[in-house]
Amino acid sequence: KGERLRLPPWLKTEIPIGKNYNKLKNTLRDLNLHTVCEEARCPNIGECWGGGEYATSTATIMLMGDTCTRGCRFCSIKTARKPPPLDAEEPYNTAKAIAAWGLDYVVLTSVDRDDIPDGGAEHFAKTVSYIKERNPKILVECLTPDFRGDLAAVEKIALSGLDVYAHNVETVRDLQRHVRDPRANFDQSLSVLRHVKKVKSGVLTKTSLMLGLGETDAQIHAALKDFRESGVDCLTLGQYMQPTKRNLKVEEYVTPEKFAYWEKVGQEMGFVYTASGPLVRTSYRAGFFDE
Ligand code: SF4
Ligand code: SF4
Repeated sequence: KGERLRLPPWLKTEIPIGKNYNKLKNTLRDLNLHTVCEEARCPNIGECWGGGEYATSTATIMLMGDTCTRGCRFCSIKTARKPPPLDAEEPYNTAKAIAAWGLDYVVLTSVDRDDIPDGGAEHFAKTVSYIKERNPKILVECLTPDFRGDLAAVEKIALSGLDVYAHNVETVRDLQRHVRDPRANFDQSLSVLRHVKKVKSGVLTKTSLMLGLGETDAQIHAALKDFRESGVDCLTLGQYMQPTKRNLKVEEYVTPEKFAYWEKVGQEMGFVYTASGPLVRTSYRAGFFDE
């Protein structure tokens, strides 16, 4: 346990800004919506919002407020036992805003709301159906909490009309307790992903691992194998970055070559889509694989 690792050159990148970026940024302010893109100061924002070279513009909207009931050690979000109540207008307002933006692909995510009986599943599902009512062509991905393993909550979202159901396992099995809130665990997360395929096999499932937390190659291999066995279709692997001094330290900056290796492994293992790179985030170019 010593000093902080230095940032390697491949993480000091110029960020391209696409054409839609300013439009999104300006309308956001009026609408009281939170995006992960902005709040996490995601380095891909110019490319995702702007459509970049792939001309698919994507944004990640955060539902249910900015305060989480959990405290994962890799995450810098505010936490409280009882965050403010849900905004009942949010599903409608979000759908309206998204229609106005002209996005091709939207990712809806949220903090964990263990204080609400269904964890906010109904709120998610409503938002999806309002978006699809206004624009059936827009692709919708939900990146959800684990709902403490409440499969009825998972099912509500799986059947809401969404295209992609994402839930992040975040790290290998052996580092779960070290990295995630104690209410989360590897098998509970897998049960969420498995249940989605069981109730609606046409929905694509997706998960993500952060690398650089001290995991070994064998542990990553084992995790990928578990994902395939649970019917997970899409996989993303990205570098863990320490958001604040209070969060877990980066144990390793994984090289771009190593990320490319994992992308190949993912493809060979039969994932429909694998994205693996230092700057890859769960929702990075989320719309890309559908082109
Ligand atoms: Fe937003 Fe995700 Fe793109 Fe980052 S990678 S800008 S969080 S959509
Ligand atoms: Fe952050 Fe999600 Fe963990 Fe909440 S549950 S602390 S939002 S990673």
